[in-house]
Amino acid sequence: MRTLWRPREMKDAPRLDDRLPLRPIKPRTALLINPFYPKDPHASYGKHVLTPSLALTSIAASTPPDWEISYWDENLLAGPPPCDPLPEVVGITVHLTFAARAYELARWYRQRGTKVIFGGLHVISCPDEVAPHADALAVGDGVQVWGQILSDVAGGRLQKIYRGDYRKPYRDDPAPRRDLLPRHGFLTTTSLIATRGCHSRCEFCYLSTRGLHMPYLMRDPEQIVDEFRQDDQPYAVFIDNNLGSRPDYLRQLCRALRPLEKIWSAAVSIDVTDDPTLVREMALAGCTGVFVGFESLSNDNIVASRKKSPRTEEYARRVAILHDHGIQVNGSFVLGFDHDRPDVFARTVQWIEDQRLECATFHILTPYPGTPLFDQFAAAGRLLHRDWSLYDTANVVFRPLHMTPEQLTEGYSWCYERLFSHSSIWRRRPTDFRAVLPYLAMSYLYKRSNRLWHYLIRRRLTARVWRPLVEITRQRHLRFRKRLAEQKERQPLRTGTVVSAGV
Ligand code: SF4
Repeated sequence: MRTLWRPREMKDAPRLDDRLPLRPIKPRTALLINPFYPKDPHASYGKHVLTPSLALTSIAASTPPDWEISYWDENLLAGPPPCDPLPEVVGITVHLTFAARAYELARWYRQRGTKVIFGGLHVISCPDEVAPHADALAVGDGVQVWGQILSDVAGGRLQKIYRGDYRKPYRDDPAPRRDLLPRHGFLTTTSLIATRGCHSRCEFCYLSTRGLHMPYLMRDPEQIVDEFRQDDQPYAVFIDNNLGSRPDYLRQLCRALRPLEKIWSAAVSIDVTDDPTLVREMALAGCTGVFVGFESLSNDNIVASRKKSPRTEEYARRVAILHDHGIQVNGSFVLGFDHDRPDVFARTVQWIEDQRLECATFHILTPYPGTPLFDQFAAAGRLLHRDWSLYDTANVVFRPLHMTPEQLTEGYSWCYERLFSHSSIWRRRPTDFRAVLPYLAMSYLYKRSNRLWHYLIRRRLTARVWRPLVEITRQRHLRFRKRLAEQKERQPLRTGTVVSAGV
């Protein structure tokens, strides 16, 4: 197998220097940290700086006014988080793949007298493991408890556990503090989140973690429009788990977004194509790409994982509906399900090429702790180990049923190599010749340029280099929308008359 290029900064977290002299603590200051995690060299390094997660900026928005708040993302490769002066409180988001790094950061700050608070999914799934490393845990919705935690620190009465409930109306949350983000660091700082939860509860998904009760809740479309407008960027990424869970809501949101004349992408399940008029509204509102969790082309796998999904024979027709409306499709596939055999790799990539998916991401099936899948594999003695740092969907952590762990590892690598090969990129080009050039530019610049990404991230050039390309894409999309709007609403699809934006 080919060795892929991965520089040290993409593999190892920045070093924390224990010899640094102790600094004074500045009272009423808090620092929120997104810890480093190693990057999979099979995938694009660009995906880590596409747009920021909103977890910490949302929490920052509930900071009491007498506290000063700042933000540090170790994945922007700017070194370890700041420590001069030392913040009185550090909040760290903890997920299983970077739990070890979060513990290291916590140890380092606590040694210097800073109070460390942990939040994030790992706090829900493995509280006993996490608790000894922090002064307090924020379990569940951190936005609800952050203000209380800071006021308890100031009053010298910090508790060990704070619990936030996800059932509170989502529209009541303040808008995330995007002003704290380094604007140079991301392709766009406009990550948006309109909904929380999902109508499905797939057994392998982190949303099915025991103790996580996240009903599907929505913010008002006007709130989203305001946030999009205020961040003043041409492109937004919706980071909702599934923006399409409630078609009526998505339609309202699209109608509210349309006058902005901006572009956006979002994760949706493929049943969003049940009604092609909704897809049309998405395109007219600026949707240029969707991330779709197909998961598997085997109905047996879909049923076994309890995913609510159309039958897989339907997928191709539904992809065509999205393409007909100028919406690119990034398909997500999970490899290693119990009905997968060694032919799954070639069959999956062949299908991706046949449907001309502009992009795809592959994930090795990973049983996250606290999910039904984890319990099932643990009970059957199929877990290979519990080294959470390898539970990153790029490593095999369980014994597959119909192949060896080595076959699964090699098949996963092969899928990426084939997908990003010149021949596969060419085979997947759009049918509309006007869209071919932008597609090729995106494929080569975004997917095949990890050395370029490394350079851009380190030199803080991500936004400066990409912003003009995004603006060109927006302009092309506006021309496409104009043509699409001129077509009759009820015109049958797949007639070849619907124009393609190719953005
Ligand atoms: S449809 Fe996607 S987001 Fe929803 S539960 Fe399944 S995997 Fe998770």
